[in-house]
Amino acid sequence: MSTTISTPASTSYVGRFAPSPTGPLHAGSLVAALASYLDARAHHGEWLVRIEDIDEGRSVAGADMAILALLESLGMVSDREVVWQSRRKSLYEAAAQQLGQHAYPCGCNRREILDSRLGVAPDGAAIYPGTCRHGLAPGRTMRSLRLRVPEGGADDVTFTDRFMGTLTQHLALDSGDFVLKRADGYWAYQLAVVVDDADQGVTDIVRGADLIDSTARQIYLQTLLGAPTPRYLHVPVVRNAAGEKLSKQTGALAVLPGDEPAAIAALLDAARFLGLPLERPGTLASFWRAAIPAWSAMLAEREGRQR
Ligand code: GLU
Repeated sequence: MSTTISTPASTSYVGRFAPSPTGPLHAGSLVAALASYLDARAHHGEWLVRIEDIDEGRSVAGADMAILALLESLGMVSDREVVWQSRRKSLYEAAAQQLGQHAYPCGCNRREILDSRLGVAPDGAAIYPGTCRHGLAPGRTMRSLRLRVPEGGADDVTFTDRFMGTLTQHLALDSGDFVLKRADGYWAYQLAVVVDDADQGVTDIVRGADLIDSTARQIYLQTLLGAPTPRYLHVPVVRNAAGEKLSKQTGALAVLPGDEPAAIAALLDAARFLGLPLERPGTLASFWRAAIPAWSAMLAEREGRQR
């Protein structure tokens, strides 16, 4: 299969911010939240928040509510009721059923996959050598559920990212058959995110570039599930002085509800990181009044340069 995605005509806009509640919001996730919010507002669209707590082992109790409270104190409130992935497992189950023969049980453990030395996908997962593709060997039991990807040569997925331009990724080479349901029983992020974006009618995904390598897998799943492919915009990832991606362990945002100067400072940092030339505003309302048109102007300028 060779998949080339063209940008759908814009009639309506549904965007989303989909944090994993593994800790408090940090400056890096604020950049993704802000970009998705500004893009939705600039398109007069809807902006949704979805709590991606599907990996219940990594979720931290209370982090979901802390993230929602922080977003609210910055002026970002979901236009629809917030959904939690941990409460939507029947949707993921139904999607896995729908995938039929594209999905298969895998009995390999992590060590066996690493030992095949095919290398590591850009997101850090070991590339699967296809051991169980044609059935479980006698005596092996299912550990995970995998998605069969097309063979090399027919495994390319091309899409246009509104920030990064046209990209081609290779499913067989870059990830191999990837996990839909994990050995610990949790549904994998790749499946859950595709099912939820389709179920919520998301037309535009704006998120951090650390997820760009997942995009081909998600587009492939969309085509198998008969779901439309949204437009994508990946914003640069915030790194600390040592060049490391800001993770949720480092640098939680210190903005208390009602602390307008701290809210403005955090938003202004994120906006400037995104390249918006904003003066320091006096109020949160004036931040938003300036930031939305500044985002539109920045995108128009980038798109002009790309042409
Ligand atoms: N839950 C993911 C994260 O917090 C984001 C998923 C997405 O935007 O597709 O990194």
